[in-house]
Amino acid sequence: MRAMVLHAPGQALRLEERPDPQPAAGEVRLRVLACAVCRTDLHVVDGDVPLPRLPIVPGHEIVGVVDRLGAGVSGLHLGQRVGVPWLAHTCGHCADCRLGRENLCDSPLFTGHGRDGGFATHVVAEAAFCLPLDLPGDPVQLAPLLCAGLIGWRALRMAGDDAMSLGLYGFGAAAHLVTQVARFQGRRVFAFTRQDDAQAQSFARSLGATWAGSSEEPPPEPLDAAIIFAPVGALVPLALRAVRKGGRVVCGGIHMSDIPLFPYRLLWEERQLVSVANLTRADAAEFLRFAGSVPLKVRTAAYPLVRANDALADLRAGRLEGAAVLVP
Ligand SMILES: [Zn+2]
Ligand SMILES: [Zn+2]
Repeated sequence: MRAMVLHAPGQALRLEERPDPQPAAGEVRLRVLACAVCRTDLHVVDGDVPLPRLPIVPGHEIVGVVDRLGAGVSGLHLGQRVGVPWLAHTCGHCADCRLGRENLCDSPLFTGHGRDGGFATHVVAEAAFCLPLDLPGDPVQLAPLLCAGLIGWRALRMAGDDAMSLGLYGFGAAAHLVTQVARFQGRRVFAFTRQDDAQAQSFARSLGATWAGSSEEPPPEPLDAAIIFAPVGALVPLALRAVRKGGRVVCGGIHMSDIPLFPYRLLWEERQLVSVANLTRADAAEFLRFAGSVPLKVRTAAYPLVRANDALADLRAGRLEGAAVLVP
């Protein structure tokens, strides 16, 4: 197999040849068809999040085909197309697991973080955490659903089913999917981008956003809720300022720069500030069912696997519209 490997935070990924991995009991091996690049991969590569092991192969939006079954695996078969998301393993017995909040498990493993991910030709995953992908379509188009889509979905649920006017801060892969889902649900979307990012703003409008402007600008009306996808703490007070009394601000990323001091009156009147962490398999099943019934237009830029560093650089520089996807 070939893989793009991170040896130390801040370094470029290195292409390596490795022996094909063998699935242990309860695991499967996949031949990777496509793996999207998420902002969390940038945080992994930069060491913004603690890394439990190195070297590591990043990548947690994997579409692959089962090509080897470990002992005792049932429910998946050879040749089946599956998705592998960020959540790779949970303990199953901590308090959060028992309460159905496996996204908050005390001792989880994450794909492309605590175990090798999909920036590779092959990957091994726990069968119980593979998501059957019956959706039709090109693997490149499906890959971004596995994190941008799933985390976007969980963040949207967190924003509240009654949030009919919704602000999105940071218009990348997740926001471009959430916009389409929210529009399908009859919500109005207000897209906030970097100042003067006319391209992202027109992209947002083309997907049905009611309004698009700079994060510094107030929206034309108070919003019911806002989701912050950009890893920029300074957006928190801006988003709180944009939501109505009782409104909610959801932080959708795994890492964010420090939140600046802000006056209490921005939180006053029962505004809420919450974060979304990881996902549960129930979120995934729910979202993939939903995605099968909505014509999502997934904007992607495909890169050969060996160009993973270029894809990361383009994401970092904000040069992408939609999601970068690596193809082995
Ligand atoms: Zn992700
Ligand atoms: Zn647990």
